[in-house]
Formats: sequence, C-alpha cells, structure tokens
Amino acid sequence: MPYLPTSVPGPKIDDVNAPFWEHCRAQRLTFQQCAGCSHLIHPPLPVCPRCQSVERQWREAPYTALVFSFVWVHTAAHDSVVAALPYNVVLVEFPALAGVRLVSNVVNVSPGQLAIGDRLTLLWEEGDGGQWLPRFRKEAPT
Ligand SMILES: [Zn+2]
Repeated sequence: MPYLPTSVPGPKIDDVNAPFWEHCRAQRLTFQQCAGCSHLIHPPLPVCPRCQSVERQWREAPYTALVFSFVWVHTAAHDSVVAALPYNVVLVEFPALAGVRLVSNVVNVSPGQLAIGDRLTLLWEEGDGGQWLPRFRKEAPT
C-alpha cells in the first residue's frame, strides 16, 4: 500500500519538468543540471538561474540521502489524505549533489521517529494515473 492514497492528485507536468517525471516513470531519480555551468536545479527551470543557459542535462541521483528537514502533517489540506493523517513531508538532501533538495515522504516511520540527518534510501511508489513517485525509507541505525 502506498504511503499516501493513490487518489492524491498527481504532479502537474509541463514542458520544463516533463523529463523529470518521465525519468520517474522509469524509476530513475534525476535532477536537472545546467550544461553550461553544471549548477544543479530542482524543481526544473527553463533557464539556469546562475548563468542563464537554456542548455540542460539530467544527472542521476544516488539511492541514499539524508533528512534535511521535515514536518508531520496533522490537518488534511486535501480530502484525499484524511485517512493518511498524520503523515510526514520531508525535505531530502543528497550530499553527493550539493544544493539540490527534493520534497518527499519517509514511508516507514511514525511521529517521533524522524530526525534531521537521518539516513534514507530511495524507493518507488505508484501514484495517481500510474505516475511513479520517489519516496524514502529510513535506514536502521548502524
Ligand atoms: Zn548554468
């Protein structure tokens, strides 16, 4: 069973973010990278904010990440998530990809079991319309 119900509306896909979501459908997490200056950009943008290049490439993310920040949601912002309360929304960082962060969820924790700096592993869950979504599992302490 996915972390959030599949009735949650899927991502709004446009010309700029379409490659990101296409890669997700193939269960590949990638981030936009400027082909001019190598700046990593997420969410995707039509122009590099650093050098204004419109040339871009896509860089694979590692399967391991860290909790940069998080919140536990106790009040539903959409009817489709009422049954999932409380759920977490996590800002994930990738030490190997400086500056890029991803909003996601950690699927195997309850309130009180998540902390900044926790080590995470990427996993995939199928959402609305068959769109695969990157989510994370907290690694056991070593
Ligand atoms: Zn650039």
